[in-house]
Parts: sequence; C-alpha cells; structure tokens
Amino acid sequence: MTTQPQQFASDNYAGICPEALDAMLAANAGSAVAYGDDEWTQRAADAFRTLFDADAEIFFVFNGTAANSLALASLCQSYHSVICAASAHVETDECGAPEFFSNGSKLLVAQTADGKLTPDAIRALATSRSDIHFPKPRVATITQPTETGQVYTIDEIRAISAVCRELGLKLHMDGARFPHACATLGCTPGEMTWGAGIDVLCFGGTKNGMAVGEAILFFDRALAEDFDYRCKQAGQLASKMRFLSAPWIGLLESGAWLRNAEHGNALARGFAAQVADLPGVRPIFPVESNSVFLEAPAAVLDRLAARGWRFYTFIGGGARFMFAWDAQPERVAQLAADLREAVGAETAQAA
Ligand SMILES: *Cc1c(COP(=O)(O)O)cnc(C)c1O
Repeated sequence: MTTQPQQFASDNYAGICPEALDAMLAANAGSAVAYGDDEWTQRAADAFRTLFDADAEIFFVFNGTAANSLALASLCQSYHSVICAASAHVETDECGAPEFFSNGSKLLVAQTADGKLTPDAIRALATSRSDIHFPKPRVATITQPTETGQVYTIDEIRAISAVCRELGLKLHMDGARFPHACATLGCTPGEMTWGAGIDVLCFGGTKNGMAVGEAILFFDRALAEDFDYRCKQAGQLASKMRFLSAPWIGLLESGAWLRNAEHGNALARGFAAQVADLPGVRPIFPVESNSVFLEAPAAVLDRLAARGWRFYTFIGGGARFMFAWDAQPERVAQLAADLREAVGAETAQAA
C-alpha cells in the first residue's frame, strides 16, 4: 500500500503521535493486570490529577460518543433533560446515544448565534416549563472548542456555570479538542474546568494524537458513583486497559498534549492567513482553534475536489479543513496554492 498525500478533511485522518505510541510500546513490554487494575492505568489517572491539580475520578473509554453519552447518562435520570447548542456533537453526531444510554433523557436544543451556549439560552430553556408533563432540566453541556472551532473564554464558562448552579443544573464539557482550547486561551486545564464550574469533562485523546481513547474526569467524585458499572454495561471497559491508558502517560507527562494542539492551531491560523485575500473566499467562523471553515463558490470547491482534496461540507456549511498534530506546513501551503488556482481559473472562465 502506498501512503497517500496528507489531507485535512478531519483531524481523525492523523496517525498516532510518537509520545503516545512510545508509551503504548512500553506498556506492551510484558504483561499487566487486566481491566484497569494495572500500574499504567493508575499512572495515567495520576497524570490527569497532576495536570488538572484536582483529585478527580478518571475513566478511560474508547471514543467520544461513549464518553459524552455515559457522562451525561450518569448525571441524569430518564425523565431529565440536557440543554445543549443546536450544533452540539451530542445532538448532531452521536446517533441518539446520549438519549439511548440515559434511557430517554431528552436533549433540549438552543439555537444560538454562533454555536455557543449562553447563560440566557440556558435560562430560557430551563425555565420554559416547570410542569410535570415536560422532562426536568438537569444538565447543560458545552463543547470546548465548539464544533466550528470557537473557544469559550473563562468568563463565558463562569457565567454559564453560575446560571447552572442557580437553576440546579450540572455542567458537562465535551472536550473532544480540549487541548486546542487550552492552547488558545493559555490557561491551565484546571482554570478552564473545575475552576470555572465544570462538573464533568470528556477529554479527547483521539484528536490529540492517540490511536483511540477518551478520558472522563469527574471533578465531584460523588457524581462518579457506579460509573465503572455503566462503562462495563455499555461495552466500554477495555480488558487490556493499559493500551487505552498508557498513551495518556506519553501525552500528558511529555507535554505533547499541548504541543500537538498548538501545532494544529498554528497551522489553521497560517492556512486562513494564506487564503485571506482570495476574492469570493471567506472564513465563516473566526479561527480560534485547529479548524478553518471557508465559504467559497461551489464551482471553486468543485475544482479543489477535482484536484484530489478532501473536505466536508455538511458541518457548519462551507468547506471544513482540520489541522491535526501532524499537519505538514508544505502540504498546507499546497492546499492554499491549489485553492488560489481554483479561484483564478474560475474567475478567468467567468470573464
Ligand atoms: C470528534 C468529536 C467527538 C467524539 O467523536 P467520536 O467519533 O465518537 O470519537 C465528540 N465531540 C466532538 C465535538 C467531536 O468533534
């Protein structure tokens, strides 16, 4: 098999970063206790507690859909509801898993201007009904950064958590790209989570350079009661857990978790800058993490696709480009150059 030139359709196209892979190989040298009672898993959980400066309860699962769904299910009874943005992954891309694993908790969807949940939107949904016929609001969930790459500031998270506390709601954070938000804000993981009122965080490993795996952090340990059983029942308890946990040691202890995110963010900003002057091409969202969403004439995007470039157009509208830990600057420059040529060719044809 030949290696294909790098694409930027998804950060899930990337491979495993060396730090995560080395840790996985180290964990492969010999045997270890199964189902998470091993020293690799202990050390990975400790690395999280150190990084977050918190005595959190940590769990490792295979993917983000499971992490989000099981975390939300642990905060809800079946008659509860979860407030989220209309564009939230839990609403648009998890095939109903949050509702399924919570045995029916309803997602209450807020239409907001830029895909961020706001205190007002939460209040409006949480107080729209208080009668017995409507599922009782119990949790709000925010995605940091959002599905379209916007980053909530610490003040915005604080304002959201204040209204949640007032209304008796727990606050969950989908951090599939959590490191990218840390890189953008230059804050510590603790400041952005428990320090700002987050109760439960799903921290994405896959988009940070791991082969597979997400971590769930309960900052309030009481909320994690029986969560291990929930994971097992959902098919999310890895028997050889060390291969799910050890890569975190590589990422967290080396600082690669942040370096990888900084790299993706920098290349996204670089790409946006390289195409900023193109007529008819416009970023749909401010570039605050590792994604660039471009609005461009359909004919221009067709030309780009005809040159072999892959990108999604069903998320956020326009063409989405994602820059992972391994994004190659030369390849990004090639993408920008090809987009420039596509615009030029289309302009020439129209003239
Ligand atoms: C990628 C992603 C997830 C996790 O998706 P899985 O494919 O289930 O691992 C969750 N939330 C957001 C915002 C994502 O982008």
